[in-house]
Amino acid sequence: MNQEKIIIIGAGLSGSLLAIYLAKKGIEVEVYEARGDMRKEKMSAGRSINLALSNRGIAALKEVGLDEYMLAEAVPMFGRMIHDTKGNTRLLPYSGRQGEFINSVSRAGLNIALMNEAEKYDQVQFFFNQKCSEFDCKNGEAKFESGKVAKGSTVIGTDGAGSVIRNAMFSKVERFDFSQKWLEHGYKELHIPPAENGGFLLEKNALHIWARHSFMMIALPNFDGSFTCTLFLAHKGENSFEQLKDEESLMEFCSTNFADAIPLMPTLVEDFFTNPTGNLGTIKCFPWNIGGKSLLIGDSAHAVVPFYGQGMNCSFEDCRILNEMIGEKENDLAQIFSEFSKVRKPNADAIADMAEENFYEMRDAVADLTFQKKRQLETKLEQTFPDYFSKYSMVTFREDLPYSVAKEKGNAQDKLLMEICAKVNDINELDLNEVLEEIKFV
Ligand SMILES: Cc1cc2nc3c(=O)[nH]c(=O)nc-3n(C[C@H](O)[C@H](O)[C@H](O)COP(=O)(O)OP(=O)(O)OC[C@H]3O[C@@H](n4cnc5c(N)ncnc54)[C@H](O)[C@@H]3O)c2cc1C
Repeated sequence: MNQEKIIIIGAGLSGSLLAIYLAKKGIEVEVYEARGDMRKEKMSAGRSINLALSNRGIAALKEVGLDEYMLAEAVPMFGRMIHDTKGNTRLLPYSGRQGEFINSVSRAGLNIALMNEAEKYDQVQFFFNQKCSEFDCKNGEAKFESGKVAKGSTVIGTDGAGSVIRNAMFSKVERFDFSQKWLEHGYKELHIPPAENGGFLLEKNALHIWARHSFMMIALPNFDGSFTCTLFLAHKGENSFEQLKDEESLMEFCSTNFADAIPLMPTLVEDFFTNPTGNLGTIKCFPWNIGGKSLLIGDSAHAVVPFYGQGMNCSFEDCRILNEMIGEKENDLAQIFSEFSKVRKPNADAIADMAEENFYEMRDAVADLTFQKKRQLETKLEQTFPDYFSKYSMVTFREDLPYSVAKEKGNAQDKLLMEICAKVNDINELDLNEVLEEIKFV
């Protein structure tokens, strides 16, 4: 491809993967990253320590030959393990089909693997400790706090939710749509260490959830036997971070709500008061490009709350689809970027909405009996009819299906199944063929 040079701002998950895709097409790429090189310096993982990688993300990694490498160090999670206040647990499988599960992977491990792979190409150069401070949409120049200036034929912003590239577009592009919506909840990461023999202190192959209506804690397994827990709690008000101001209030809150987890968390107090409290929000914007000169990819274009485990998967899907489109249209990047944005925007909006809805599902509905019956029924339907896909399965396991289709079809199915389940005490009373017949028409 006859492309001069592409500048990528941000060597996170999207930027590093995109660099590989572009290099494979023979394009020269410079990647500028605000932080140091995580392969050489010990630094905090930033956001979540581990992430759920599912089919859309795997499909994108597969095209650059990294899927098997990443899955070899992933922990499969076959369902949600629900913990009630008494410590009883119950597994709600993610799917009724064999081979459908999600994978807990290390964020840093994945980012490092992507950077290492990108650097194998002569066309790719990384520049670390280069924080972009300004982007001139007109002449395509990116300026850095260091004083450095980078110029290429195209600048791609993969600089995450606080994107400087997006902010520059916001102030320079006429009628630039932008919205940012914060959840009243924030999050804090906590830790369950491995067992003394190196094993796992909780069921290894599950995403654990302590759903408590107005708040919740989740735990994802790490390859080393530990779990990373994330507490999602309102910033202020009743049951909030604001109220947990000392060891006593923290321990009282945790032993009331997460009694079975507390003995597994020896560093709870230290973690809680040392680790930062993160914010959670949804960012939507449009357009994502200025002609062929600049483009937003990943969280810079569409940050979503993490409750569907899809932010990274969606960002990886961006890279895969952009790559396909560049392949088809050769050099006309202006046209490719415009088409790409038009195709991806409704899908990014759909997963943003579903992710927000899933917060309420995980927090409230997972503890609700009708919801639990509905999940059981969905699992049975998937076991009985291989062509039936629940909304969760469409989003998570059907990389061939756009998010917007999964949302529309999935919401209609959900509504009907909740109505059916509300009328029965036991889903075994239901005739599955009749249920399927009804669902066919939604
Ligand atoms: C608590 C939590 C849990 C999550 N769990 C999941 C999950 O299970 N599954 C999933 O799919 N997604 C998950 N996500 C979402 C996922 O983290 C993001 O969607 C993903 O990281 C987006 O990748 P990105 O490369 O677009 O942005 P980022 O990962 O934010 O990377 C942006 C990069 O740009 C750099 N940068 C920023 N500004 C500048 C600048 N001015 N100049 C130069 N460099 C800059 C940053 O240092 C960073 O390296 C989760 C998110 C959170 C907050």
